[in-house]
Amino acid sequence: MGLKEYRAKRDFTKSPEPAGSDTEAASRANSLKDTRERFFCVQKHLATALHYDFRLEHDGVLMSWAVPKGPAIDPSVKRLAMHVEDHPIEYGTFEGVIPEGYGAGIVMLWDQGTWTPEVPDVAAALRKGDLKLRLDGFKLKGSWALIRTRGAGERSWLLLKHRDEWAGPLDIAEFAPLSVKSGGDLADILAADNPDVWQSHRPAKGGDTGAMFARIIERAMAIKQEREGTAPPAAAPTAAAKTKMPATKKKAAARKADVKKPTAAKKTKRR
Ligand code: MN
Repeated sequence: MGLKEYRAKRDFTKSPEPAGSDTEAASRANSLKDTRERFFCVQKHLATALHYDFRLEHDGVLMSWAVPKGPAIDPSVKRLAMHVEDHPIEYGTFEGVIPEGYGAGIVMLWDQGTWTPEVPDVAAALRKGDLKLRLDGFKLKGSWALIRTRGAGERSWLLLKHRDEWAGPLDIAEFAPLSVKSGGDLADILAADNPDVWQSHRPAKGGDTGAMFARIIERAMAIKQEREGTAPPAAAPTAAAKTKMPATKKKAAARKADVKKPTAAKKTKRR
């Protein structure tokens, strides 16, 4: 537990990802004893391969699993979920471009909401490798389970949907592929940042992932050029205006936006 492994893997002078505050972690951990719902999110992450990072708030941090094929709402489908290092709470609303280093690629906030344990003791359930939970996100809802598998190492779990009114044969990743934060796809997120970022060293070059990166970079450049070329000068400040902000200013603004986001998200949900 804790953020040591998370921080050791990253250079925060080069990555826009939040370093996370220990005070925040401690205060969230202390309030865990109440019956409050906890935060959860799923981040779609195109890096050396496309995967979905499933994160549950527990004990002041976001416990994290990398799900290569993404969550499935079909109860007959069990999805492999590799347990990875805890992430800071502040990471939960992060969306953007990691230009280099660990996890270099594009991160989309694919779903977010709250989770509630369906077990009396979360820590005990995690030790046992059998956590039953309820999700209340924009896309994922109802009863789910995370089950540790035997024989494939401590890090290998399965994420599965229980049969209920929120289950169905739909491919949710394909049906609802866009961001719940910006409404955009991976190319839109890259276009709002710097589409030239991987000219020399792309996170993946060959195979399906390399082809995906090539397509997304090309589309992002086109989106950015179109916005810059055709947007009338008197237009209201939009995403296009934001992309013209100098990189340093933009990073600071993004950090501020991240801090404010949980409140904004709560407001949206109450409506
Ligand atoms: Mn990831």
